[in-house]
Amino acid sequence: MNFVQGLHCVFCDAIFPARALYTCPRCGITGILDVEYDYAGIARSLTRRRLAGRADRSQWRYRELLPIREDAVLPALPVGWTPLMPAASLARHVGVGTLFLKDDGRNATGSLKDRASAIGVVKAREKRQRIIACASTGNAASSCAGMAASMGLRSVIFVPERAPEAKVTQLLIFGATVFRVRGSYEQAFQLCQQACERWGWYNRNSAINPYLVEGKKTVALEIGEQLEWQPTDWMAVSVGDGCTIAAVWKAFREMKSLGWIARTPRMLGVQAEGAAPITTAFRSGAPLVPIEPQTIADSIAVGVPRNWKKAVLAIQESGGAMINVSDDEILGAIRYTGRLSGVFAEPAAATAVAGLRRAVGERTVGRKESAVAVITGSGLKDIQSARTAVGKPFDLSPDGAGLDDILKGQNLIVRTAS
Ligand SMILES: *Cc1c(COP(=O)(O)O)cnc(C)c1O
Repeated sequence: MNFVQGLHCVFCDAIFPARALYTCPRCGITGILDVEYDYAGIARSLTRRRLAGRADRSQWRYRELLPIREDAVLPALPVGWTPLMPAASLARHVGVGTLFLKDDGRNATGSLKDRASAIGVVKAREKRQRIIACASTGNAASSCAGMAASMGLRSVIFVPERAPEAKVTQLLIFGATVFRVRGSYEQAFQLCQQACERWGWYNRNSAINPYLVEGKKTVALEIGEQLEWQPTDWMAVSVGDGCTIAAVWKAFREMKSLGWIARTPRMLGVQAEGAAPITTAFRSGAPLVPIEPQTIADSIAVGVPRNWKKAVLAIQESGGAMINVSDDEILGAIRYTGRLSGVFAEPAAATAVAGLRRAVGERTVGRKESAVAVITGSGLKDIQSARTAVGKPFDLSPDGAGLDDILKGQNLIVRTAS
């Protein structure tokens, strides 16, 4: 917390001291707060060179830019420093000059949400809270439960009915008390809010907890460092509540103001057609209109995004764009991303790739431009959707009858045995 200066309301611009606040006391629940830092102080303490010398290969290597105390107790589960890999074949298919995948499915519990949850458990511990609660479409919950288990905290989780089985199973494995709400994410969110107020649990809902989204910044700090401070033209990020894209932009702004990068990339926010209230708000310039979400990409099926304003501001400031893709395009992207890069993305993660492809088609992104697509979660978290995107295996009897014909059909016989 050394460098935290205060909390700034993105709605009314009021500034508050950094205390135990979730939302702006003047604006209420819609008054999303943003953490402000003393960047001059950070610049003196943290330089690119000093960073390069740090052995810590986790998100904590950027601790000066995080709202945690120097003596904070950190979870034992590793967080962040996920691989950034070039994806040349995928770039050709998507239609861009250069494409990198940032595979955040390789976090401990399989999604980018670990970055926020790790801050959540550190803050809960700092406040001597023993119980952390969260409402989530799935990944925030499973990562909250995993990080809580790693820190010896208890977790109470509210998930909507549609949360995929693998994510719910993760929760139970990590020992969370799990409520499956017969309703939407919005309803689960409300129940969690009320319970946190009533019982005084630490509230991990990153949409409203200003500290948690700071953790999500680290994905972009890592990308900056992994690209040797030469960011791509575009950053493709899928958008649900809007926290991730806002955090990614904030990190690039910070890198710029610290003098680490010369120019910032443009943000490409991607939503599913059936859950695109932020795209609508971005294009209309009007306040957000809640919708009833309908998409296979459960992690971004958010009808009442809390962070829409931060997301819209981020995309505007970056000179970026919002784009929608259909469920079919998402399923297609799961398939071709797997085939052309070896990365298995969950639907909400493949959405970023699908959006990039569509943005090239619509000439928003140029064919010579470079991009990073953030793979926000592992495909193993939602096998159901993935299975609809691919074919079935060939059934074979133990005597192997028909094998040769299948191989021929698949063009797999390159030379005939003598
Ligand atoms: C949460 C999540 C997102 C979107 O993040 P928001 O902060 O809600 O916009 C995208 N992909 C995956 C896999 C997620 O879990």
